[in-house]
Amino acid sequence: MTVELANTCETQDQDALIAQSPLSIRGLTVSYGEKPAVFSVDMTVKPGQMTAIIGPNGAGKSTMLKAALGIVPPVSGRVQVFGRALDEQRARIAYVPQRASVDWDFPTRVIDVVLMGLYRELGLLGRIKASHRAKAMDCLDRVGMGDFAERQIGQLSGGQQQRVFLARALAQGADLYLLDEPFAGVDAATEKAIISVLKSLREAGKTVVVVHHDLATVTEYFDNVFLINTRRVAEGTVAEAFTEATLQAAYGGRLATTQVDQLARA
Ligand code: ADP
Ligand code: MG
Repeated sequence: MTVELANTCETQDQDALIAQSPLSIRGLTVSYGEKPAVFSVDMTVKPGQMTAIIGPNGAGKSTMLKAALGIVPPVSGRVQVFGRALDEQRARIAYVPQRASVDWDFPTRVIDVVLMGLYRELGLLGRIKASHRAKAMDCLDRVGMGDFAERQIGQLSGGQQQRVFLARALAQGADLYLLDEPFAGVDAATEKAIISVLKSLREAGKTVVVVHHDLATVTEYFDNVFLINTRRVAEGTVAEAFTEATLQAAYGGRLATTQVDQLARA
């Protein structure tokens, strides 16, 4: 009897958590071929916090974000955004893809990339007004790229491009921000600029989910971690879920024990 009661409470708590969660994923399996890239994964992102998705190369991190955005179709599973179907909530999600996946060979000015973030306000044939430009410039200023508005995006360094994509996400005015390895291969100035913008989003009550590769900065940057290696390995606060045991489980033999020791103590 007691057990049954406890279970009921737990289910209700869980339901409430899912309903409030900016991003809730249940039983997600995604497959590009025969072998699943993500298998039967549950994730409940906490509102107003910063969460890192961590795992080895090929663990399914990018695939999870893409499935959360409906870019890749799941074999099974359910995605809810702020307690509702993804389709109803798309405008509330901003996405900064992994940089290598964007090819900027064609000529586009930086300001135009940021204006793309305003497409919902602009509509398909909307005229760009001074107020739109001002908003886009403000977003560029927030990432320290205001002086580069008229440059071609292809002429910028990788780090500068990354900041412009973040500015585009800011322009969208979303409530949930999904970023895929925003710090990969960027200069120190860019890393600082990006983390400070992400922290200011959190202060404004927004939710930030970042695929993150640098284990050394996890404790400093994030509130929560989600460890994945095709299956979910661990999920929770950094103190709970970013431990030697969970890292070993996620990376297997691919991390030296001393490295894990250092990280767990950081
Ligand atoms: P991560 O971001 O953790 O490095 P991914 O989500 O990119 O991992 O990839 C997970 C697995 O799915 C890998 O084995 C990868 O090779 C495979 N994969 C990813 N994208 C595709 C694709 N478009 N077609 C086929 N296989 C893919
Ligand atoms: Mg990836």
